[in-house]
Amino acid sequence: MRFESTELTSAELRLQQEVRAFLAGELPRGAFTPGLGFNAAKDPAFSARLAARGWVGMSLPRAYGGHDRSAVDRLIVMEELLRWGAPVGHHWVADRQSGPVIARFGTEQQKQRFLPGICRGELSFSIGMSEPDSGSDLASVSTRATHTGDGWRLDGTKVWTTAAHVNDWFVVLCRTMPIEESGDKRAGLSQLLVDLRSPGVDARPIPFLDGTEDFCEVILDGVLVPDDLVLGKVGEGWAQNTSELAYERGGPDRWLSTYLVVEELLRQHEGDAVPDAVVELLGDAAAHYWVLHNLSLSIARSIDAGGTPATESALVKEMATRFEQDVLEAVLQVVELEPDLVPRSLFERLLVTSILTAPSFTIRGGTNEILRTVAARGLHPAVAPR
Ligand SMILES: Cc1cc2nc3c(=O)[nH]c(=O)nc-3n(C[C@H](O)[C@H](O)[C@H](O)COP(=O)(O)OP(=O)(O)OC[C@H]3O[C@@H](n4cnc5c(N)ncnc54)[C@H](O)[C@@H]3O)c2cc1C
Repeated sequence: MRFESTELTSAELRLQQEVRAFLAGELPRGAFTPGLGFNAAKDPAFSARLAARGWVGMSLPRAYGGHDRSAVDRLIVMEELLRWGAPVGHHWVADRQSGPVIARFGTEQQKQRFLPGICRGELSFSIGMSEPDSGSDLASVSTRATHTGDGWRLDGTKVWTTAAHVNDWFVVLCRTMPIEESGDKRAGLSQLLVDLRSPGVDARPIPFLDGTEDFCEVILDGVLVPDDLVLGKVGEGWAQNTSELAYERGGPDRWLSTYLVVEELLRQHEGDAVPDAVVELLGDAAAHYWVLHNLSLSIARSIDAGGTPATESALVKEMATRFEQDVLEAVLQVVELEPDLVPRSLFERLLVTSILTAPSFTIRGGTNEILRTVAARGLHPAVAPR
């Protein structure tokens, strides 16, 4: 496990300034409702404007509408968007993982069909991995695809599929060969690109505690998927899916989910003497943000140098999501406020949303128990998989 020390170059700092200026012009503070992390609002028009600046699909190939930019450049843009609470919901998953997976494993036809739309901030994607009885142990998925004369017939149930009721496509991990035939649950898995509006797809929102709807149960009942929408090779789904998971971890989206609560806490005291307990909290939080920023930056540099820092990313996601929860807990200790579901201020709204969503930070994208196992195996390869 290696975290090389690194800093932003002057060109990278200029990019950071450009993004800040863009956000201040596009979304002036007070003129929009900031969201929390990558859970922020879905706004296709904003995604399109961001894409027009070249800041969606940044690391995708230029030949398909991308920009061939570095992982560090992408990280800089992501960090600024999340710190601002920008409405990134429409393009987030497509930009972070579906696009890169299609670029890596897709056919020429698939790249031409999907990547330009992703890079324009138009096409949105969901992640079709988890199932009612298959979350941490993804190799046990039971959604099955059976080959028919015209392609694949898909049957099964996916769950916790974020935004499946409003997105365009999702990448479905499914079984194309029964375990009895393959003899190994990791073999015989494939990934299919599925149009969320296909006949037989029923995305049913699962209401959250406060009545909002974000993730879904998705029933797949005889959905017909043509052969040309198999992503990568039939039977190679496990390896492809593992590489997709690596795109989900280690970035600023794993430590900025509650950042605006902290920033707004500081604003609450503008012009006043800041109480000692708040000063202490802000100092501690600033130190954590700086460390986590540097760890994510180090991972991005490693990717740009051709590395595959999967272990490092697992470790950072584990630390970072715990911090996102801890800092919220610390804020709750210093505010004299009984949070209300009908918030009276921006601070209270951010606080209430954070309280409701924070438990999910250490679950979504792989639970912390699983990430600790990944990190432990990376640190000590002798810890063999069971
Ligand atoms: C807000 C949110 C959004 C999500 N969005 C999506 C999405 O868009 N697409 C998608 O596919 N999924 C999504 N998920 C699902 C998420 O990936 C799973 O919830 C997660 O992987 C855990 O799986 P599970 O819920 O089945 O829990 P389980 O795997 O049943 O785990 C239950 C508990 O047992 C522990 N555990 C399990 N196995 C082990 C082990 N081997 N060693 C130690 N402890 C273990 C876990 O850490 C956990 O604490 C989302 C989840 C949340 C909360």
